[in-house]
Amino acid sequence: MVTPVALYLVYDSGSRPKPGEISLAHNGILFLDELAEFDRKALDVLREPLETGRISISRAARQAEFPARFQLVAAMNPCPQGYDCDLGPHCRCTPEQRRRHRGRISAPLLDRIDLSIEVPRLPRDVLMDPGPPPESTEQVRSRVAACRDRQLARQGKLNAALSGREAEGICTLAPAHQQLLETAMDRFRLSARAYHRILRVARTLADMDGAPRIEAHHLMEALSYRAMDRWRASEA
Ligand SMILES: [Zn+2]
Repeated sequence: MVTPVALYLVYDSGSRPKPGEISLAHNGILFLDELAEFDRKALDVLREPLETGRISISRAARQAEFPARFQLVAAMNPCPQGYDCDLGPHCRCTPEQRRRHRGRISAPLLDRIDLSIEVPRLPRDVLMDPGPPPESTEQVRSRVAACRDRQLARQGKLNAALSGREAEGICTLAPAHQQLLETAMDRFRLSARAYHRILRVARTLADMDGAPRIEAHHLMEALSYRAMDRWRASEA
């Protein structure tokens, strides 16, 4: 189990605080594999840097603050026995075991994750025959760069940096789409924070398309990236 200290800061031999993993990932990617294996309290401390891009810790009359603006990427198994089971025909986990496993990721942390998807294990024949080659990194890069340029031209910052209020002003929905989002909010019991995140993601998908407005399919796609909220709602 990874302790909070290793994630947030470490002490050198003179017990001076030094940056931990989240600060070493500043301006980069922090990848947490097997997220459910982390100490739940340690994960909850991630909320502050995910909001502010900084981590401050006071301990024994010492105060340490380090930059920590990272992109969080995490992976976990859907049930506690992991690879051997993976909800396939061999899954013998009880609903209670699954609920406890998934409950290790708190609702407030989940709220701060923009996209969560289920990745089913690929059947062997699909693995062996991956189909036509995907886009090259260079092609994807130019699409992403164009999308970022649209955001900077419109509002002087990226969609991810919009405050909740700014998101409501910029990521506007047609009335019918607003109704759709409100229905999803009730059904999956989403918070105001999740609401703003869905708006930003939908606006980003529209920007990827070069579309002036958020269309229904952008909103539906943004909602489809809330897999863990659906787990939570189905098990509540
Ligand atoms: Zn299982």
